[in-house]
Amino acid sequence: MTDKLVRTVCLKLHPDKPHLLDELRKNFRETWNQYINHIKELGTTNRQRLEEKKVEHNLLENTRQCARDKARESVKSFFEIKKFDDEATFPSPKDEPMTAKLNYRDGYVFRGDLSVRISVRAGDRVYSEVSGSQKDMRYIEKALNGEYSFGTAEVVKKSGEYYLHVHIESEDTPTVQDQEESTYIGIDINEGNIVATAINTGGEVLRTLMLDYSPLKKIKHKHFIIRKRLRDNDKNLKGFDKERHRTNNFVHKISRIIVEFAKEFNDPILCLEDLAHIRKEIRYSKKMNRRLHSWNFAKLGKYIKYKARWDGIFVQEIDPEHTSQMCPVCGDIEKKNKNGRRFECHRCGHQDHRDRNASLNIGLKGMKNFLGNVPSLKNFPSFRKVRWMASGLVNRPTEDIIQMSCLSSGSPSALPSG
Ligand SMILES: [Zn+2]
Repeated sequence: MTDKLVRTVCLKLHPDKPHLLDELRKNFRETWNQYINHIKELGTTNRQRLEEKKVEHNLLENTRQCARDKARESVKSFFEIKKFDDEATFPSPKDEPMTAKLNYRDGYVFRGDLSVRISVRAGDRVYSEVSGSQKDMRYIEKALNGEYSFGTAEVVKKSGEYYLHVHIESEDTPTVQDQEESTYIGIDINEGNIVATAINTGGEVLRTLMLDYSPLKKIKHKHFIIRKRLRDNDKNLKGFDKERHRTNNFVHKISRIIVEFAKEFNDPILCLEDLAHIRKEIRYSKKMNRRLHSWNFAKLGKYIKYKARWDGIFVQEIDPEHTSQMCPVCGDIEKKNKNGRRFECHRCGHQDHRDRNASLNIGLKGMKNFLGNVPSLKNFPSFRKVRWMASGLVNRPTEDIIQMSCLSSGSPSALPSG
């Protein structure tokens, strides 16, 4: 887990010389145009090959490289789209100015008073106050005091107003303070629900949270059919965007709730199943197969990991083998369990909700990876199920839920695409 975490912060600019930002965007387009032509002529997006080509430009050297790379990205994404859309066309030179990408320090720099300086070209600079949400401004402050770092930024113009989209990066990998004192949170993601169970190293099952979103399954199913049709046919794009937006929103909320749940415990370690561990030669249970093919398994897992890491929570990915078949009391593997809602051990008689049982096993596996062994479990408290309808959570807010419902108003933060 050494890859960078990137968050996009959107700020409104109040530039002293807006016309220079227009020039920057225009110059950026002209440079991009030339690179598009070079790529077409050379038949490659290879950086070295492109560097051998002459380009007339009026940008800082650093920004010219950004325009070159943006042209390379445009061509690469064209080839991606081409895979399922025969009518996609190769990028062509355009007249209108475009979003300009800038490197930190050479292209733009934040100053102590939270204003920004944008370099258009040698000697020509734009100074600007910025405004943004409290949350976004905090990210800028944290980047200024070194907690995070500044990545590239983009100068965007929308309805006559200028914006700066700043990529804030974090390279911090959360660490575990004390494995013996940690709380292990096992996360079990299913098509219709997600279950989180917190266990301490003394073998106490502290709490289980189950978010049931099975009413959404149908909507999601529809969404995927729409997406499939889209690949054959480019119609209905608006409906698709709306659905995608709703799905993303939903995934953001769910992952935020899970991370907030984890934060209630002492030094939490999130344990999730890792898709990379899934091996072809193993025949997984029906439950496992169903999950692997469900719409949200990978996406929710990815978002939870991402949000947890931003919040300094250690995430451990574990091998999913037997997580839904194992008895946490006697260790027996129940291959013949009927696929009802209950888990039942035929050796010791232990019974539990099927998905809580899986989340417990996931947490225990995480604990075993750290400590080498697992304690015998002391208790299995009952748990609260929170139902999620298309409109949001529907259970009456209780102690468990109050914290969650206030999250639904939060705006989704930027996540890596794909
Ligand atoms: Zn058992």
